Amino acid sequence: MAEAGIIDGKAVAARVREQLKGDVAQFVARTGVQPGLATVLVGGDPASEVYVASKRKSSVAAGMADLHQHLPEDATQQEVEGLLRELAASPAVSGILLQLPVPAHLDAASLIELIPFEKDVDGLTTMSVGLLAQGKKGLRPCTPSGVIELLDAYDVPIEGANVVVIGRSELVGRPVAQLLVNRNATVTIAHSRTKDLAGICRSADVIVAAVGVKGLVNADFVKPGAVVIDVGIHRGPDGLSGDVDFAAVSPVASLITPVPGGVGPMTIAMLLANTLRAAELQHTLTG
Ligand code: NAP
Repeated sequence: MAEAGIIDGKAVAARVREQLKGDVAQFVARTGVQPGLATVLVGGDPASEVYVASKRKSSVAAGMADLHQHLPEDATQQEVEGLLRELAASPAVSGILLQLPVPAHLDAASLIELIPFEKDVDGLTTMSVGLLAQGKKGLRPCTPSGVIELLDAYDVPIEGANVVVIGRSELVGRPVAQLLVNRNATVTIAHSRTKDLAGICRSADVIVAAVGVKGLVNADFVKPGAVVIDVGIHRGPDGLSGDVDFAAVSPVASLITPVPGGVGPMTIAMLLANTLRAAELQHTLTG
């Protein structure tokens, strides 16, 4: 059987970033404002440090200001709240990203809510979630937006398509399902209590796997010719792998994202796009 075409997330992300560079330069020329991204890291979680460093580097490469803030591991709830309030009020800050997870003694949910919707580049505040649910203008979570961008880049029809999203997390499953509904897909959201998951997935023209279970989606889940998007990331001795058993699914699907090199690279590209959108939004709001 033929192998599926590969959805090259690295290439799409590089195109998005290149385009953004130009868009940022135009925005600066038009408004005199340089978009600025304030990443906020509390503590020294090594994975978070790597993610934040990469976000900072990419924002600078796109022509944005790096307004990173680092608080110590033992920062109090009041200290983090104070910093977020300052960033919320600062005209130099277009986007605020609180790197998750925060240390366990902090209440992440209430910290996130201090980010004003027009600076919420992660799209995780209740306001942003509500705007997405109502299909109103706002900032959308980065990884879900990246999934849509990949489908569009490969001309995968969304309108009228049967899409099964496996996973209902606030970070990925729910927002990606909402974005797909807003684009007129017929969406089924599957989760850990779903009965006959494989059977439900076999009805799908597009499967989006955001499960966090390594290799869960195998050939039995996939209708011949379906498109398979793998959001999962698992680190193992052989490197990174996803929620999809790539070798088994590739001969059945028409298009598939690899891990690494599929959805992963899109997340930062969409964060940068959100930061520019945030700067535009604030420019409009402040007149
Ligand atoms: P999560 O919060 O753990 O959510 C997982 C979802 O999958 C839950 O809704 C859960 O159902 C469902 N689930 C778990 N086991 C299942 C099973 N056996 N059958 C059906 N559904 C099952 O994870 P997440 O934050 O959404 O992340 C999902 C994956 O994406 C992870 O591997 C994560 O590392 C990766 N990720 C990648 C990126 C990226 O940039 N590429 C970004 C974020 C996350 P219940 O709701 O019933 O518990």
